[in-house]
Amino acid sequence: MSISENTKPSLIGFSREELARVFAELSVPEKARGMRVAQVWNWIYARGATDFARMTVLSKDLRAALAENYSLERPEIVTEQVSADGTRKWLARLAPDKPGGPGPLIETVYIPEPSRGTLCISSQIGCTLTCSFCHTGTQKLVRNLSPGEIAGQIMLARDRVGDWPGAQAANPAGLPEAERKITNIVLMGMGEPLYNFENVRDAMAIAAASDGLAFSKRRITLSTSGVVPQIPRWGAEAGTMLAISLHGVRDELRDELVPINRKWPIAELLGACRAYPSLSNARRITFEYVMLKGLNDSIADAKELVRLLAGIPAKINLIPFNAWPGAPYECSEWEQIEAFAEVVNKAGYASPVRSPRGRDIMAACGQLKSESVKQRASERRAEAAAP
Ligand code: SAH
Ligand code: SF4
Repeated sequence: MSISENTKPSLIGFSREELARVFAELSVPEKARGMRVAQVWNWIYARGATDFARMTVLSKDLRAALAENYSLERPEIVTEQVSADGTRKWLARLAPDKPGGPGPLIETVYIPEPSRGTLCISSQIGCTLTCSFCHTGTQKLVRNLSPGEIAGQIMLARDRVGDWPGAQAANPAGLPEAERKITNIVLMGMGEPLYNFENVRDAMAIAAASDGLAFSKRRITLSTSGVVPQIPRWGAEAGTMLAISLHGVRDELRDELVPINRKWPIAELLGACRAYPSLSNARRITFEYVMLKGLNDSIADAKELVRLLAGIPAKINLIPFNAWPGAPYECSEWEQIEAFAEVVNKAGYASPVRSPRGRDIMAACGQLKSESVKQRASERRAEAAAP
């Protein structure tokens, strides 16, 4: 059955408390619920079951009752594009918002590298923010993703690359880390994750549960454009690694590039970074910096960047700008990126230039855009200028 036809709610994304409620509804006696929750949790999140029939630890009747009322559906892959560099982009359909309608589409990207495999997941459909260099920013916010739709992206990726333990093996904690293809999760797809705080937090709790999807919090990174008041809260309630989309070292320019800067300027943003819990050289904040020709790529900018970050355990990710149709910018010249990186390196910061992955399939940073809302930056500016 396709995701558009299924009308049963999916258990993907359910917390233990929610699963306990399901068993209460199905009249499982209270004293047996804890055990049933543990069993179903393990089948869903450690073993990746897609069918209640496989859960043979449950009675036949209970399996039937679950199957009658619920599904184990994840977002459904509609297309898979594979880049020349091995990056894969999945366009996936969610359950329809209105019965019978086509479900909305999201994008998830898998980036295999020799020493790790990174999954880039989306937190919203579109984005309310309008960073001027970002393709997603030209798409209106359609809605927030639910915990199941966020965690479900990890699950569909595991289904697709074969990252679950074998069906027979009793693997309480899933596939050992060393054998996994997907080792890291980054919340760097579509959307501003801190504007969908609770759902992203609940999904990451499932991702980080040692008897669930079992990603270490050090291997989960949330990227934010700078929703300052939510940064300490994220540190306290989720505690994953943090990445900041900085992109500019002067408020005047950052106001243009990352408009949320008008609300929370650079000094406030960096203050929140300094206070982020358990920072150390082993747990550094990543600062993302997109290289825009003639705008933010001068040697003076590089020096100012170093000055601003003084005292923060930091990594700096220089991202060559990825163009998209109608983009009002150009990527910096390669020599300029190297000269910029040298200043940053000399100051003692690791600053890998992130080689653009999956550009040929529009899967690179800032190129994701799933809906057919083809509103170009120029149209958007015209709209904004209109009375
Ligand atoms: N909304 C969050 C997370 C998603 S964006 C945020 O802004 O941090 C992931 C990263 O890609 C961000 O650093 C973003 O600024 C960057 N990015 C956006 N558009 C880009 C483009 N066209 N080229 C390169 N990087 C881009
Ligand atoms: Fe939204 Fe991030 Fe793109 Fe800005 S860079 S528009 S916050 S997705």
